[in-house]
Amino acid sequence: MMRKRKPCICGKEAEYRIGTTEHSILESKIVANNVPHFFCNFCKRVSFDSNTNLVSVLINAKKQGLTVVDYKKRGGASMISYKIDVSEEMKKEIEQAIEDKIDEIVNGEQFAAICDGKAILGKRSGEIVVIERIIEKIL
Ligand SMILES: [Zn+2]
Repeated sequence: MMRKRKPCICGKEAEYRIGTTEHSILESKIVANNVPHFFCNFCKRVSFDSNTNLVSVLINAKKQGLTVVDYKKRGGASMISYKIDVSEEMKKEIEQAIEDKIDEIVNGEQFAAICDGKAILGKRSGEIVVIERIIEKIL
């Protein structure tokens, strides 16, 4: 069961929440959304469960030059990131399509997924799946 609180190093208790955290990786700022973490209201310290595995996700993001990533722990891919503008509705559909297909997506290779009559093109890099292009109206 997920712990909802844990002791902070300041002596108070940090609360579990899912939200946006900011990170510095090799002098780059990366914003991560939907990250499960603990936040101490008293000293404002942010901490993570060891299984959150955020560091490898951030390093991958850095390698790809991304400044914003979305943390989603699902199967082998923790995050889906978008190089293009995608509506929230479409994102949900894409996430579902990627989730169904994640075992077939080879690390470092481009892939295509069919989603609501559109072709979703992207690339997996470690735990991050980057959506690079959407081709509309394929028949
Ligand atoms: Zn604290």
